[in-house]
Amino acid sequence: MSASDNVAARLHPETRLVHAGTMRSQFGETSEALFLTQGHVYDNAAQAEGRFLNTDPGFQYGRLSNPTVAMLEERMAAFEGAEACRATATGMAAVTAAVMAPVRAGDHVVAASALFGSCRYIVEDHLPRYGVETTLVEGTDIEAWRKAVRPNTKVFFLESPSNPTLEVLDIAAIAKIAKAAGAILVVDNVFATPLFQRPLDLGADVVVYSATKHIDGQGRCLGGLILGAKALIEGDIQQYLRQTGPALSPFNAWVMLKSLETLPLRVGKQAENAAKVADWLAAHAVPSRVIFCGHSNHPQAEIIARQMSGPSTLIAFEVPGGKAGAYRMLDACRLIRISNNLGDAKSLIVHPATTTHQRFTPEVRAAMGVTDGLVRLSIGLEHPDDLIADLEQALAKV
Ligand SMILES: *Cc1c(COP(=O)(O)O)cnc(C)c1O
Repeated sequence: MSASDNVAARLHPETRLVHAGTMRSQFGETSEALFLTQGHVYDNAAQAEGRFLNTDPGFQYGRLSNPTVAMLEERMAAFEGAEACRATATGMAAVTAAVMAPVRAGDHVVAASALFGSCRYIVEDHLPRYGVETTLVEGTDIEAWRKAVRPNTKVFFLESPSNPTLEVLDIAAIAKIAKAAGAILVVDNVFATPLFQRPLDLGADVVVYSATKHIDGQGRCLGGLILGAKALIEGDIQQYLRQTGPALSPFNAWVMLKSLETLPLRVGKQAENAAKVADWLAAHAVPSRVIFCGHSNHPQAEIIARQMSGPSTLIAFEVPGGKAGAYRMLDACRLIRISNNLGDAKSLIVHPATTTHQRFTPEVRAAMGVTDGLVRLSIGLEHPDDLIADLEQALAKV
């Protein structure tokens, strides 16, 4: 293998997404190779010893590292502007490692209450089993973060925009409180995508992605990514990943590595389509509430203007008639399919109250803004006029 094409920071983000991290084998392949191997052989016993001592650079075993996975990690780190990146088998493996690895029994975690269902489970149910105290706060209330801090607070965790109500949190302000408290701020950046929001520049310590979403972008592979400073990522987090074993398959890493090359094209176009659909929905008589990060009437429009460079590819809106009205609309969609996934080239619609947020009590759902008439729409790469035509005939059935 030749040395990595070390892509200089002066190159534009699009260029880094095509070239960063590339390692060519002796065959000089144009496209990055897929190293579908569990392990690596050594020239001699002493070399094996050197690998284990970390004095001989190279690969050992797939649970620890893999050349294709390493290319994805380096490319993503170069795009995000992070010192280090580690890939995981799923987005939830990334979130769990980022939140669990830095804490010990007796520590305390503060998180925004509006979280992706499984993320909330990790904070609310899982951490306390191991003696880690947790506090959920209303994320938009900056004072609530400050008040939640205890002497043993080690991690702040938030998602912005949140799922499914697209609530946007002031990352810079929350990062300041975390820093003063000596805690690290972990940001789940899935809904914003790495294209439209840069949490590390806003003061966050760790960024996590479900690469399953926009990074794959075509509904194929599960994956996760954790990015941040070398000391953090290659310390507790790497140790946690290596020993507990949520390694990303090299095949999935290869799919995502190639997907990164087209990320700005895909996500840029999806966001453009989402803006057209959201404008149309806002002007339509049936939806009573349309939430879109690109609209000036978004409750946190002022924060969005400061912190995001694009609107995300998701729209949330409310139809009259509660659950029955929402079901009538979903069942009438023809082109847009019902799925809890998002970030796909195919537009997908979901009724959060009965799927992704089903396990919460009606009171908790109400506090999260997940009403019975709320639907979440993930916009894909279809022509926006076809999506609008599909929504028009579906809304007529509500
Ligand atoms: C999907 C998602 C996750 C979990 O990712 P998986 O790849 O499904 O494990 C975490 N956070 C957010 C915001 C998500 O949308």
